[in-house]
Amino acid sequence: MKVYNLACEQNHCFEGWFGSEDDFLSQSAGQQIVCPICESVKVGKLPSAPHLNLSAAKPATASRHAAGTASPAAVQMKKQLMDMARHVMENTVDVGESFAEEARRIHYKEVPEHGIRGLASAEQCDELAEEGIDVFQLPMPALRKSTLQ
Ligand SMILES: [Zn+2]
Repeated sequence: MKVYNLACEQNHCFEGWFGSEDDFLSQSAGQQIVCPICESVKVGKLPSAPHLNLSAAKPATASRHAAGTASPAAVQMKKQLMDMARHVMENTVDVGESFAEEARRIHYKEVPEHGIRGLASAEQCDELAEEGIDVFQLPMPALRKSTLQ
């Protein structure tokens, strides 16, 4: 059984239970997943990984991409990023620079599973990945400009 954090196009967050990743994918492709609040079928999966790195390895690349392209797609992407960032803020604990250490403690079950966010260098992220620890990265420039508060 898989539990995914899902969100519709209007940013209603809810949990979806699926037998497997394939189940989720086929139901998603068939628009069989419906938002319980507004009944939209435009539902996407939020990152379920409890380990989130907010320091982004390559923020410069990300912002260079965004600059000058005010296409609807870019705006939409930014909005999705903001929605995701908000979801992350609401569902994780800020552990700051202890991120890599804390992610390991969770991974090796030294502490109960819980969502964390914090800062990690690109090297630390690589090390975590090598140990099989999922880390999700969000570009910080987008967060700073955001209206998260
Ligand atoms: Zn909805």
